[in-house]
Amino acid sequence: MLCGACAAQVDATLSNPMRSWFDATLLPPNPMPRMRTKADLPRKTCAACGRPFVWRKKWARDWDAVKTCSERCKSELRRANRDARAVDVARA
Ligand SMILES: [Zn+2]
Repeated sequence: MLCGACAAQVDATLSNPMRSWFDATLLPPNPMPRMRTKADLPRKTCAACGRPFVWRKKWARDWDAVKTCSERCKSELRRANRDARAVDVARA
């Protein structure tokens, strides 16, 4: 049986290495340098509304094909293209 002081000593030696291991695991001293921030993401300018937009996960596969910031702009652009073609046809 340990006296109060000894028990405290044992507690300190047992819990401190654990504590520092825990801190090191949870809080790495250097934040991951390769962490992607919003500023790192590729950007494009929307072909319909002209506003810049940032890469999104859902576009990971077809980012090259993405030309508009939203579905709304996409249909807007499609409509504009159709109108332009209609004008061409009318002119021809
Ligand atoms: Zn847009």
